[in-house]
Amino acid sequence: MKLLRFGSAGLEKPGVQLENGTRIDVSGFGMDWDEDFFFDSSNLDKLKAWVEDNSDSAPVIGADERLGPAVKRPGKLICIGLNFSDHAKESGMEPPKEPIIFFKATSAICGPNDPMVIPRGSEKSDWEVELAVVIGKKASYVTKENALDHVAGYMLHNDYSERAYQLERGGQWVKGKSCDTFAPIGPFVATKDEVADINNCGMWLKVNGETKQNGNTSNLIFDVPHLVSYLSEFMSLHPGDIISTGTPAGVGLGFDPPQYLKAGDVVELGIDGLGESRQDIVDME
Ligand code: ZN
Repeated sequence: MKLLRFGSAGLEKPGVQLENGTRIDVSGFGMDWDEDFFFDSSNLDKLKAWVEDNSDSAPVIGADERLGPAVKRPGKLICIGLNFSDHAKESGMEPPKEPIIFFKATSAICGPNDPMVIPRGSEKSDWEVELAVVIGKKASYVTKENALDHVAGYMLHNDYSERAYQLERGGQWVKGKSCDTFAPIGPFVATKDEVADINNCGMWLKVNGETKQNGNTSNLIFDVPHLVSYLSEFMSLHPGDIISTGTPAGVGLGFDPPQYLKAGDVVELGIDGLGESRQDIVDME
């Protein structure tokens, strides 16, 4: 299944994208894509059955309808730093021996095609195409072998980063990662069965039509099972929690001189099987 949410911000309704690309309103199913939904894996089977019975009569979502975040108010948004060796190199850092973990405020989450608002006074806003993992069953001390049993699905994420806040203002990276609109997620959550091989998905990002990032999940230093297992040693992962697995080379920071976003720029990105998103860059009002 491809799970999405649509409608105005804060009032989104649940939807599903069918095999033929049509998006339908599944409010009639009675659940939204949140912790309660992902808590019980049988909900996915129930939804599948509901869609089979109702896809002809459910309202079709118009192409111009806003898409919201594909997961409703996740408890945690955990990010992995420097998980591609080419990105570690361009950042002037060593590839890590263990995963680098940081948090991103969940208030940064927005719809996949919402404008990205440059924070007040910011001069170093940057992009990062990433594969995000959505947790299904609660994970605590799980092994790598069992890790995927705790994954509900995958989605596209742009881990926007303000490099001065992240690297020049002291303390943790969270400062540079958490501004409003810094986490467009979606267009949809692709459930695990939708993705043939999550360890071999092309990922790309363009700014104003020019390709900046062109990578593949096969180059992750720590793959999805490793990350789920590793994180579950330090914290419980709850249904609906999101893990963003890191970005390949080609971020603005890595260019000489660095390239940062300004109002009027357009960022487009995608991952094989997980759809595409687009953000117009705007100044804060
Ligand atoms: Zn990142």
